[in-house]
Amino acid sequence: MCGIFGIYGHPEAAKMAYLGLHALQHRGQESAGIVTSDGTRLYTSRKMGLVADAFPPCELERLVGSAAIGHVRYSTAGESRIQEAQPFAVGCRHGSVAVAHNGNFVNVEAVRTNLETKGSIFQSSADTEVIVHLMARSQADDLAARLTDALRQVRGAYSLLVLTAESMVACRDPFGVRPLVLGRLRGGFVLASETSAFRLLDATYIREVEPGELLVVDGNGLTSHFPWGRQERRFCVFEQVYFARPDTIIDDRTIYQDRVRMGQRLADEHPVEADVVVGVPDSGLPAAIGYSQKSGIPLELGLIRSHYVGRTFIEPQQSIRHFGVKLKLSAVETVLVGKRVVVVDDSIVRGTTCRKIIKMIRAAGAKEVHFRVSSPPTKFPCYYGIDTPHRRELIAASHSVEEITQFLDCDTIGYLSVEGLRWSVGDQDGAHHCEACFTGDYPIEVSDHVRERQLKLVGT
Ligand code: AMP
Repeated sequence: MCGIFGIYGHPEAAKMAYLGLHALQHRGQESAGIVTSDGTRLYTSRKMGLVADAFPPCELERLVGSAAIGHVRYSTAGESRIQEAQPFAVGCRHGSVAVAHNGNFVNVEAVRTNLETKGSIFQSSADTEVIVHLMARSQADDLAARLTDALRQVRGAYSLLVLTAESMVACRDPFGVRPLVLGRLRGGFVLASETSAFRLLDATYIREVEPGELLVVDGNGLTSHFPWGRQERRFCVFEQVYFARPDTIIDDRTIYQDRVRMGQRLADEHPVEADVVVGVPDSGLPAAIGYSQKSGIPLELGLIRSHYVGRTFIEPQQSIRHFGVKLKLSAVETVLVGKRVVVVDDSIVRGTTCRKIIKMIRAAGAKEVHFRVSSPPTKFPCYYGIDTPHRRELIAASHSVEEITQFLDCDTIGYLSVEGLRWSVGDQDGAHHCEACFTGDYPIEVSDHVRERQLKLVGT
C-alpha cells in the first residue's frame, strides 16, 4: 500500500511530482518523499506525514532537475519512522541511486540475512533497501542490467521506480500484481501508480507498464525490456474493490464503474425489502449507488464523513483505528430513523469498524440494518502489499456468516460472490487477477518467514 510517481524530461519535475503524489495520497499517508536529478546528482527530501505538509515551496525549490521520483507510504512491512520513508537514496560505486517501491517481496529475509553475513549494513527494515544493496553489488554495467540482477534474486509483487543522475527505470513484477501506468507530459514521460495522478497534471495516458516489463527512460527516449519473459497478468482485485481511487482507469475501465457493477450484482445476489440504501463513505459509495439502481431502493446520505481525518484503517495502530471511526463518520438521523436500512460497504476485514458503524446507525433510530458487502469474505491475508492482518484476525476466516451477523449486530449480511466479483471486473474466470485474499490462491509462493512476519505485525 504505497503510491509511486516518476517524471522524466520536465523543467519543473519536483513540482509535478508533488502534484502527482497529492493525487496518490489515498495510497499512503505515513510519509512522503521526492528525489530529483539535474543530470549530475540527486536531491532528496523525505518527511513523515502528508504530501501537502511535507513539501513547503522552499523545499520544492531546493529539489532541482528535470527528472524526479516520488513516494507516499503506508507500511505493510517495516516500521513507521523516517528511516523507512522512501524513495531510498544512496551513493555506491555505480553513483547515486534512488528507489521507490510499491508492493512486498516475499523471500526478502533470506536475501537480507545473506547480505548481512557478507557485511551489508541496513538503515531500515523496509524490503526496498535490499534491492538497493543487490543493485550496488551487481557487476553489470548499466542500470537496467543491475536492476534485473537484483530482481532475479527476489520474488514478490512490486512496482518500482529507480532514478540515477542520468536515467530512470520503471518496472513491474512478472504478474503485474501492483499497478503502474505510463503517460506523457509535454515532451517528457510520467509514471504513476494510478491514472488519477495524470488527470491532475493534464498528462496523457499512454498505457500500463506491462507485467514483467522494465522500461528505461533516458536521453534516448523509452526502451522496453522483458527480462523475465511474459507471464499471465494477475492484477490485485482488491485495488478494484477498495484501494484505488474511483476515477482511476485500469484496463480501459474506471474503478468507479466496476464498483457500481459490484453493487448492482450484490442487489441481484442479496435482495432485501428495505426503505433506504446508505453507502459507507467513501469506499462504499459507488457500490451503494449500484445497489440502489438495481434494487430500486432510494439512495440517501445516511452517513457523513469528515474529510479532515485520514482513512481510519490506514493508521497502523489498532487503538487509533478504533478511535478513528467516530472521528470520521457520523449518522444523519432524519435519513435513518424508523427505516429499514441497507448499508453497503466494500469489505469486512476484522469487523470492528463495521460493528461500530452499525451501532451508530441503530443509535440513530434505524428499525432494521441489512449489511451488504461488495466483495467476498476476506479469508486470507495479503502478502503482496495490501495491509491485511494475519488470518486469525480476519473475521471471515474463522466465523460463519451467521456468526458475523451476530457479531456485527445486524439483521442480515450479504457478501458478493467470487463469481459476482469476477463479473463486475470483467474477468469471467478470475484468470487475470490475484484474488488470494478471497480464495487463498496465491500466484507467488510466499516464504514461511513472511507469513511469520505478518503474525508479528498483528497488534503492532
Ligand atoms: P473492519 O470493520 O474493521 O473489518 O473494517 C472494514 C473497513 O475497512 C471497510 O470499510 C473497508 O473500506 C476498510 N478496509 C478494508 N481493507 C482495508 C485496508 N487494507 N486498509 C484500510 N482500510 C481497509
